[in-house]
Amino acid sequence: ERLAIAIDGPAGAGKSTVAKLVAEKLSFLYIDTGAMYRALTYAALREDISLSDGKEMRQLLDSLTIRLVNEKAYTKVLLNNEEVTEQIRSNEVNQHVSLAASHQAVREEMVERQRLLAKEGQVVLDGRDIGTHVLPNAKLKIFLTASVDERAKRRHEEQVKKGIDSDLEQLKKDIARRDEFDSTREVAPLKKAEDAKELDTTSLTIDEVVEAIIDLAKE
Ligand code: C5P
Repeated sequence: ERLAIAIDGPAGAGKSTVAKLVAEKLSFLYIDTGAMYRALTYAALREDISLSDGKEMRQLLDSLTIRLVNEKAYTKVLLNNEEVTEQIRSNEVNQHVSLAASHQAVREEMVERQRLLAKEGQVVLDGRDIGTHVLPNAKLKIFLTASVDERAKRRHEEQVKKGIDSDLEQLKKDIARRDEFDSTREVAPLKKAEDAKELDTTSLTIDEVVEAIIDLAKE
């Protein structure tokens, strides 16, 4: 935990892109905690489990292994050994993941799994509650933000680049809705840890953000 870097912030602030690059530069292990909640959400949707039922969601989670494998340009996600890397980024998952992540019973288990992963060495974790709950003693905590417009624009450009249909206004709404849900839930709401450094990335490039974090890590 001593050497861990926690990167939290709202949806689309660039956390995963930045966290992955920071991890590569420092030779740390990158752990995308959002992908774990997404994998659970995908499984629940597929198995027709009620996402609002915390007990059932926890039971489902207990039956799942979720593995994150870092490939060069992305994190491969394996759900009970089945690759679901692309499936967990669908609009349907986007729209349901916050509900799946709102249950105490689900979060307890996720946090436990994340702490176990973090014990594997020097790590960069990104999520919503890393600095506040998962790794409260992390050596460096970053809270990444950007305006909603900028975050939606980035997602939009990313989708277009991948050849995926994308609607900017819809993205803006989705992102704002997810932020609202994540910041107002009862359990471990999205919030800047008191000792986190806030970095507004609205007018920064990815490289600038990565450099800023590396500089802080070296302090
Ligand atoms: O980071 P990403 O956008 O993939 O996260 C998807 C969702 O998972 C978030 O909107 C949030 O509801 C949930 N999440 C969370 N805690 C984390 C990571 C993600 O509640 N540590």
